[in-house]
Amino acid sequence: MEIDEALRRKLVQAVADTVIAHAEELTTLDMAIGDGDHGLNMKRGFEAVLADLDKIVALPLPKALHQVGMTLVMKVGGASGPLYGTLFMQLGKSLPEAPTRAEAAEAFAAAIDAVKARGKSDVGSKTMLDVLAPVLAALRADGDLRALPDVADAAAEATKPMKALRGRASFLGERSIGHVDPGGRSSALIVRAVVAAL
Ligand code: ADP
Ligand code: MG
Repeated sequence: MEIDEALRRKLVQAVADTVIAHAEELTTLDMAIGDGDHGLNMKRGFEAVLADLDKIVALPLPKALHQVGMTLVMKVGGASGPLYGTLFMQLGKSLPEAPTRAEAAEAFAAAIDAVKARGKSDVGSKTMLDVLAPVLAALRADGDLRALPDVADAAAEATKPMKALRGRASFLGERSIGHVDPGGRSSALIVRAVVAAL
């Protein structure tokens, strides 16, 4: 699929707008099982992305994604900055300029593996990985792309009964149970924005 400059702009803008619009919700989730900064962290990162939007979308897709990742690493802070930064930077390294669906799925898999390595974590620890991994599975399954946002929302909701084993929420032990993971929620928001823009 050819992703030209207009579509790159639409994609980056949609993701940034969604994250910024939901900053308060993400902060509220992080107040319950973290330190209440996830919304602000993500908002700061994507505002920095928007500030460089023209420069970013002028780059070919792989370089544009890599640049988004670098900006997030520099601006987001917290655990999620390096982790989302890694996700986007690795996507940039793995995606060809005009990816097929299969190539997009494999690049997404490489990006998820990079997040796992960076965070020394895996599926089942109540993190963003618990949303990203089911979305990858659905992407690989060759169904309708438009089903992905609901897969992501359901996966975010499914982090509620989980006990956190990674990140700040893990300090709460059993008390992390009963709350949606903030990073899982932000991942679901990003998936919905990407699919809507495509
Ligand atoms: P911090 O926890 O440093 O305050 P944020 O609040 O911005 O950072 O982000 C918290 C989110 O980061 C969590 O909800 C979780 O989804 C994700 N996260 C934290 N640690 C890890 C990890 N080791 N691996 C994957 N995701 C993680
Ligand atoms: Mg936090």
